[in-house]
Amino acid sequence: METAVLLRSSNKLIFNPRHYSPHNFFRLLSSSSISSSSLTPLNPHRSINPLTSRSLPRRRKLIPPSATSSSSSPSFHFNKHHFSTLSPHAIATPYSLDASTVPDEVAAKYGFEKVSGEFIGECKSKAVLFKHKKTGAEVMSVSNDDENKVFGIVFRTPPKDSTGIPHILEHSVLCGSRKYPLKEPFVELLKGSLHTFLNAFTYPDRTCYPVASTNTKDFYNLVDVYLDAVFFPKCVEDYQTFQQEGWHFELNDPSEEISYKGVVFNEMKGVYSQPDNILGRAAQQALFPDNTYGVDSGGDPKVIPKLTFEQFKEFHGKYYHPSNARIWFYGDDDPSERLRILSEYLDMFDASSAPNESRVEQQKLFSEPVRIIEKYPAGDGGDLKKKHMICLNWLLADKPLDLETELTLGFLDHLMLGTPASPLRKILLESGLGDAIVGGGIEDELLQPQFSIGLKGVFEEDIQKVEELVMSTLKKLKEEGFETEAVEASMNTIEFSLRENNTGSFPRGLSLMLRSISKWIYDMNPFEPLKYEKPLMALKARIAEEGSKAVFSPLIEKFILNNPHCVTVEMQPDPEKASHDEAAEREILEKVKASMTEEDLAELARATQELRLKQETPDPPEALRSVPSLILRDIPKEPIHVPTEVGDINGVKVLKHDLFTNDVLYAEIVFNMRSLKQELLPLVPLFCQSLLEMGTKDLTFVQLNQLIGRKTGGISVYPFTSSVRGREDPCSHIVVRGKAMAGRVEDLFNLVNCVLQEVRFTDQQRFKQFVSQSKARMENRLRGSGHGIAAARMDAKLNVAGWISEQMGGVSYLEFLKALEKRVDQDWAGVSSSLEEIRISLLSKNGCLINMTADGKNLTNSEKYVSKFLDLLPSKSSVEAAAWNAQLSPGNEAIVIPTQVNYVGKAANIYDTGYKLHGSAYVISKYISNTWLWDRVRVSGGAYGGFCDFDTHSGVFSFLSYRDPNLLKTLDVYDGSGAFLRELEMDNDTLTKAIIGTIGDVDSYQLADAKGYSSLLRYLLGITEEERQKRREEILSTSLKDFKEFGEVIEAVKDKGVSVVVASPEDVDAANKERSNYFDVKKAL
Ligand SMILES: [Zn+2]
Repeated sequence: METAVLLRSSNKLIFNPRHYSPHNFFRLLSSSSISSSSLTPLNPHRSINPLTSRSLPRRRKLIPPSATSSSSSPSFHFNKHHFSTLSPHAIATPYSLDASTVPDEVAAKYGFEKVSGEFIGECKSKAVLFKHKKTGAEVMSVSNDDENKVFGIVFRTPPKDSTGIPHILEHSVLCGSRKYPLKEPFVELLKGSLHTFLNAFTYPDRTCYPVASTNTKDFYNLVDVYLDAVFFPKCVEDYQTFQQEGWHFELNDPSEEISYKGVVFNEMKGVYSQPDNILGRAAQQALFPDNTYGVDSGGDPKVIPKLTFEQFKEFHGKYYHPSNARIWFYGDDDPSERLRILSEYLDMFDASSAPNESRVEQQKLFSEPVRIIEKYPAGDGGDLKKKHMICLNWLLADKPLDLETELTLGFLDHLMLGTPASPLRKILLESGLGDAIVGGGIEDELLQPQFSIGLKGVFEEDIQKVEELVMSTLKKLKEEGFETEAVEASMNTIEFSLRENNTGSFPRGLSLMLRSISKWIYDMNPFEPLKYEKPLMALKARIAEEGSKAVFSPLIEKFILNNPHCVTVEMQPDPEKASHDEAAEREILEKVKASMTEEDLAELARATQELRLKQETPDPPEALRSVPSLILRDIPKEPIHVPTEVGDINGVKVLKHDLFTNDVLYAEIVFNMRSLKQELLPLVPLFCQSLLEMGTKDLTFVQLNQLIGRKTGGISVYPFTSSVRGREDPCSHIVVRGKAMAGRVEDLFNLVNCVLQEVRFTDQQRFKQFVSQSKARMENRLRGSGHGIAAARMDAKLNVAGWISEQMGGVSYLEFLKALEKRVDQDWAGVSSSLEEIRISLLSKNGCLINMTADGKNLTNSEKYVSKFLDLLPSKSSVEAAAWNAQLSPGNEAIVIPTQVNYVGKAANIYDTGYKLHGSAYVISKYISNTWLWDRVRVSGGAYGGFCDFDTHSGVFSFLSYRDPNLLKTLDVYDGSGAFLRELEMDNDTLTKAIIGTIGDVDSYQLADAKGYSSLLRYLLGITEEERQKRREEILSTSLKDFKEFGEVIEAVKDKGVSVVVASPEDVDAANKERSNYFDVKKAL
């Protein structure tokens, strides 16, 4: 797991019942790139958890027109609502229990006994806990009317050291099994199923294998592949899989140097290059010196090479056993069938003692606080003095807390840190002592809860001041309590979102599973975490009776102020660290080589060769056919229909989507950005943040924030920019998104109006904080999502829309922010008037468009408020487009950062070659990613990921890699893609799978708000229903000939493409030596 628990969503009770960011088998690279940042709010308070990030291929652009997409459904600022308007009964609909009952004799026939069962009103589900009699395996069988079915199997896998066994095993079991004897059944499922979710995660103490699909046949196919994978994987007999996913020595020729390779090895090198991750891991390990959390289940790159194949096999034998498993089923399928499928696997085992051995020991509380200092790799550019990080961490209890206390602590966490107006967050940021918050507040997903808070971007001499400020603020909060408005706003926020249960494209059933498992895994009741109603009511009653201070102050005192189990972690920037680590690794490898005889070296070169050959040899067709797949007849011929009515209110276009939304209205108010002067564009993200966080003449920003919290489900503001196919001019807008219960729509539009028209850009100090926070966030993104930075940079060299996005979220933006920091001090009046100029240029009825999603009655009722809102907008006679003509200079570029892994990109515009968009391009680019690039960049190259992306709006086709040990070699792989396609042979089964997998992306599962939002984007980008139908038909009729022809088209990338890499200085130097100054070098950190 990514021990850095620090990057998760702040309002965890809400979107993200799970706050850990565990290691994923493969990272869904959405929402990390620049172009998707133009779709999501640029000011989320913490970066996005890979789990909550959208389960669609990386970027909006990749998604065919029919989806355009749930990846674009931005996470809301905050979900808030006044609880008094929202009774649980208003939302619950009855669910028939009869259909979901497994008769006892059926359960017995399959070897199960029913332990307990109940109807859970909060998720409108019948849940039954079964026990497999022979092995003791436990099964939660949850039945309801949700078509997005979820299965998951979870093992308790606490490691004893930092060799990364659980993580490497998580990767390896997906590399072939008894019934599915091919290299990677997982990849076949990625290619050819309709899954709505498919991945695997390693936590510090457990490993989860979840899948989801709306198609029942597809769902059971996925379940079977996963069950076979975990219980009967080939990897325990196949040393080469262990080498590939874990680690091995690579030696291409006895005369060359030996290197380490391995997918997990490189993934973890990437993790260990990120300061926030280093901090999180150091804190966790110091908080838990005596139990399993004191080591890294993900693997420390320095320790991973100590792992032996014997240990690896033994770990699987012991822990991947039914007796040590917890299994989850959820959705509208037949619950008896679930038990039948499971019995086929579980019956093959006898009970084992694993549950005793896998139990997580409790960490005893310290009697004294602890302080540790860690170094992290920093660049030598910039001011190293203001690069320290400081974080205070507490272990809150020596055993798990009861749910009511946990819920109360969750509220306390939201009150202290959940919004920009929350006091602890606000005071720390306003102190000017640091750039951004670190530490994620309350963390309650492990056995014992923790609390962490601190700052980064701190001067060394200010470290103590930060510590004192944290303590004095906590003391003050204990003594004075919280404002009533703040308590009410937090309460509503949490309640709105528990009830709305909007998990984005993350399946609802998976979110519930992770919530349940967080207690179940410790042998506690799996039903309890699903039931929030009673403890919530109890908490509300207590606050009403005793006052919030009486509820929260004792918690702050007991768990934090009087708690000696505190670990203070100080992080120091070290410009030498990255090269020292490199040198230390090289020294070990040199010693290894020196200790080898000539025969040994020849043998190693032979083994390296053999492994590569195996990796690059395609599976035989029989093996591929073993993975079950749908047939084309199972696939609907028409795209998913979103009802859309285009109307007009007061001369403004209004799009209405009549969909069931549980009485919530979702609205987008869109303004045209085309009239904005080019030089103002980089200020737009900060303009958006200022609207929500600066306050008006009558309201401080805290009051405004609380008002939004009490009356609506949240408001967010962000820019959206894209190329439009067939047009020179880009589509560029600012989007204001809001949601509210039907009875609060008037409040919602009033508040949007207030935010747009009344907010004053006068608070210099707050604006300065926004700049520092954005800078810290960009630096983080550069290290963690370098592929997104590289992609944006290439786009900016190839088209205007890309240039704009890069100005608002790429390396150019980081440079802009650095300069702006000074300008705010020297010329605040100028900055402030620029912000005002943006508002004047945007706010106009002429350039406005409204999009609303709700049921018909609520849509109609909302119109009068829309009309009133529009009346208040200024009108302009005409909106003139400003001259936007900038692009970055076209050369190849290397962005140098202190890192141990690289991000490698290459791209070109294929429309320039005369290529006309055809639906087959979606099938083909997905296929290249899942075969050629997966095999060469990941499997044999050792990178964590490699993929391609086709922006069908601009025509830019790009290749990208993620946490990549290579650089020029990866570019060579990209250049080979055209030839790969031209020489491709494939049978019908393979082609069908590729088509079905693409349809799975196109038809990705969306909740109502995402459907309405996708429809809006299609409208803005000029994609008609006819075009969607046409593309779908083209996808469905894709032929091998299309692949071969496309091979010619993408030769343009090889021949004329531009390359941008985000990489370490050593690798860039080496590349420039080898290929005579191929890259212009730019230092970014
Ligand atoms: Zn991994």
